[in-house]
Amino acid sequence: MEKTFSIIKPNAVKKNVIGEVITCFETNGLKVVEAKYTTIPKAQCEEFYAEHSERPFFGELVEFMTSAPVMLMVLEGENAVMKNRELMGATNPAEAAEGTLRKRFGDSMGENAVHGSDSPTSAAREIKIFFG
Ligand code: ADP
Ligand code: MG
Repeated sequence: MEKTFSIIKPNAVKKNVIGEVITCFETNGLKVVEAKYTTIPKAQCEEFYAEHSERPFFGELVEFMTSAPVMLMVLEGENAVMKNRELMGATNPAEAAEGTLRKRFGDSMGENAVHGSDSPTSAAREIKIFFG
């Protein structure tokens, strides 16, 4: 069993689709084993997205992610990291495959509805930041 870290981003929370996102995980073999509904503090968000700190969109990304409540979750299942990335779809919702979470609920490259760890190593780092 593998763990991954998931965020339902502010735009998706505003759309009232927390249940639909979790249903997608649950019907595809991923189990929610930790969850927290919260607004991320700016400093914690900057730490979380540290790898992108030199990118031109960093300021706007942190602004968006700390602008309103999110749902933070740890998901568990077989190949949880890759499975979650498949369910999410491409970073850009316009390029995401039909039926994926980003295609269904994403609004733009930045406001793309969900986050998912890109490797087991990232998952461990991200889970530690938000769940200790
Ligand atoms: P992913 O979330 O698919 O792993 P990245 O790690 O490359 O994608 O980027 C992290 C997040 O930063 C994305 O989910 C998205 O919200 C935002 N982002 C990435 N690229 C851009 C961009 N070109 N413009 C605006 N926001 C972006
Ligand atoms: Mg990433």
